[in-house]
Amino acid sequence: MTMLACSKQESELPTTYSIPAFDQIQLDNYIPAFEAAVNEQKAEVEAIVNNPEEPTFDNTIVALDRSGMTLDSISGIFFNVLEADGNDEMNAIAEKVYPMLSELSDGIILNDALFQRVKAVYDQREQLGLNPEQMRLVTETYKSFADNGANLPEDKKERLKEINLELSLLSLKFGNNVVAETNACKRFVTDEAQLKGLPESAKAAAAEEAAAAGHPGEWLFTPKRTSFTPVLQYCENRELRKQLLLDYTTRANHNNEFDNKAVIIREMELRIEKANLFGYDNPADYILADCMAKNHQTVDAFLQSVWAPSLEAAKREAAELQKLLDEDLQNGKCQMSNDKSLQPWDWWYYAEKLRKAKYALDEEEIKPYFELNNVRKGAFGVANKLYGLQFEQVYDMPVYNPEVEVFKVTEENGRLVGFLYTDYFPRAGKRPGAWMNNICTQYIDENGVDHRPVIINVGNFNKPTAGNPSLLSMDDVETLFHEFGHALHGLLSKAHYRKLSGTNTPRDFVELPSQFMENYCYEPEVLKTYAFHYQTGEIIPDELIEKINNAGKFNQGFVTTELLSASILDMDFHELTTAEGLDVNAFEKASLEKMGMIDEIIVRYRPTFYNHIFTTGYEAGYYSYTWAAVLDADAFAAFKETGNLFDKATAKRFRHLLEQGGTRDAQELYLEFRGKEADPQNLLRRKGFID
Ligand SMILES: [Zn+2]
Repeated sequence: MTMLACSKQESELPTTYSIPAFDQIQLDNYIPAFEAAVNEQKAEVEAIVNNPEEPTFDNTIVALDRSGMTLDSISGIFFNVLEADGNDEMNAIAEKVYPMLSELSDGIILNDALFQRVKAVYDQREQLGLNPEQMRLVTETYKSFADNGANLPEDKKERLKEINLELSLLSLKFGNNVVAETNACKRFVTDEAQLKGLPESAKAAAAEEAAAAGHPGEWLFTPKRTSFTPVLQYCENRELRKQLLLDYTTRANHNNEFDNKAVIIREMELRIEKANLFGYDNPADYILADCMAKNHQTVDAFLQSVWAPSLEAAKREAAELQKLLDEDLQNGKCQMSNDKSLQPWDWWYYAEKLRKAKYALDEEEIKPYFELNNVRKGAFGVANKLYGLQFEQVYDMPVYNPEVEVFKVTEENGRLVGFLYTDYFPRAGKRPGAWMNNICTQYIDENGVDHRPVIINVGNFNKPTAGNPSLLSMDDVETLFHEFGHALHGLLSKAHYRKLSGTNTPRDFVELPSQFMENYCYEPEVLKTYAFHYQTGEIIPDELIEKINNAGKFNQGFVTTELLSASILDMDFHELTTAEGLDVNAFEKASLEKMGMIDEIIVRYRPTFYNHIFTTGYEAGYYSYTWAAVLDADAFAAFKETGNLFDKATAKRFRHLLEQGGTRDAQELYLEFRGKEADPQNLLRRKGFID
């Protein structure tokens, strides 16, 4: 393997790109195309295994990274269309494709002959003269096998399979129990007077639900957020608020067939056993070894550093809300007036009153300043000022839907960076939410040719109608900037290997580039470059900017405390070294007491419905949201400290961090950018907890 040229020459590498052939693929091409591509990768992997030469970095590790190129291009097309413009036929194809793909990946990851070659290279990695990126590729490749037990003796391998199978069934059961309990709980209100304060739209929805459930003329509320949140926020009826909140927070905790406490205990037993198989004391350390945080001590210390000031802020907020409750008690406006202190079911109600009085943001007043095309231009403008990137719309690229727009992204000197597709409007067949996807992954090949990426941003913003453009809410604006941040992470990638390219980074790092961009959309200086009234062209007035920024600080003590308490609870569970004698409710209580949690707030997810950590694979990972927030606030502070949001030297260092993707250790990359560890104070300042 020739050592790679230095970065100066690399910036002059010739570029190439592939155009996703959305226009050429017919529905009935997909299955044969997938079959051929799967067989192609199988043959590529077989060729690596059967190579008569000794295993080398090139003939094994790089060869594996380069395998499956055809499959990647077909997947890139198929799964993007499936998510953004799917239909029944696409779903039927997906049903056939998923098993093909999982069989293929099992066949690779459980292939012992292949693992022995990977291990041979891994074992001699220090002697191979590898550069940091190559070293990272070797260790990451090795780990992807080892994490699946490739390195374990036969009996433990078997046990791992059993554990994984039982865990997958348990997590399914956990999720199903939550759904069952959510659906089973129906609270009917028969007297409209009980709903005083509830907005008409929420009332109408509850009336419809009741009618559908065979109770016409009544109102039905369930522990689904959309159903009970309006009651918590607006309904004067304190007793109803209490019942509905308790319905929500006691789900799967009723000692019936849907109770999740036994499921949790068994999951914890198995997770601890699994961690032990890999030589770890507890599940947290096993999981965190692959993350930026590395171990539970780092996460604990981190959470503690944010917890105390958040709790203090929440206490100040609680005191303010208590005053509003006191007024109601004095005026006789409050039922259950024997309970004079603020309760969890009072928080949303009084917070909403306070918000209206002090922080009200009228979306209708704001929206005319956020016309979609202007906002997108604003985001492009930020990337231009930071990195010199140019965005030119191109009209001759094949797209899967006429609403998709394509931009060619180039450097100041005209060098190709990549292509950005945007697909912003809802349609039948598009899943909800917003996301970024790679359609074609960036990598630099053996001949030094840089294959530039094709990235897509998908959203569900308001569709323009005849005479009315698409106008965004502030949340939408933030979402657009967020996804654009992910897109830049993909677009700027400069990796040699696909496994390490772009957004292929640890889960506690991957949201840094996206959340970093969110900071810009709120800056007055930036708002004035893109927030124009769509009818008059007037730049957004300063009073509105101030309102927007004040609204962002409202109720943050509550929000952060709720989130952090769930993060700490998650860590407490996964730092357990034994599940013997575990009593779930007592454990939760002890954990919250240790935190010093206040009575006015309930942890965001109580254990029996904590899907993130018992169903969806986010165990010992819920801290990531706050971790990324600390990183993004700190990264943005690096710019603010220079007095220039677009400081060239800082932007150059941040761009370098983006370009590296997963080729380097995330913590190392961050330290290189910032010169020191991220300081939580910057997040606390942004939230208004400290000056
Ligand atoms: Zn994101």
